[in-house]
Amino acid sequence: MSTRRLVVVGGNAAGMSAASQVRRRDRTLSIVVFESGRHVSYAG
Ligand SMILES: Cc1cc2nc3c(=O)[nH]c(=O)nc-3n(C[C@H](O)[C@H](O)[C@H](O)COP(=O)(O)OP(=O)(O)OC[C@H]3O[C@@H](n4cnc5c(N)ncnc54)[C@H](O)[C@@H]3O)c2cc1C
Repeated sequence: MSTRRLVVVGGNAAGMSAASQVRRRDRTLSIVVFESGRHVSYAG
């Protein structure tokens, strides 16, 4: 388990794009997205 963690605030276009881009570059990083709404973007 990686000790590094990316925390993204906001799960719409910008937040999910950032999270998915970082995931493509680093498959081991722990990524957590906080979204205050009921849904997150799935097209990022
Ligand atoms: C009327 C309108 C029409 C548009 N039409 C188009 C279009 O046709 N095509 C197009 O490409 N773009 C369109 N846009 C622009 C597009 O919606 C935005 O550019 C895009 O949604 C921006 O995404 P974002 O992730 O930067 O911000 P946001 O969409 O604002 O997302 C931020 C997210 O963060 C969450 N959030 C905020 N604070 C917190 C917190 N403290 N903790 C957790 N979560 C939090 C919010 O719930 C939200 O989901 C339109 C915009 C508007 C207003």
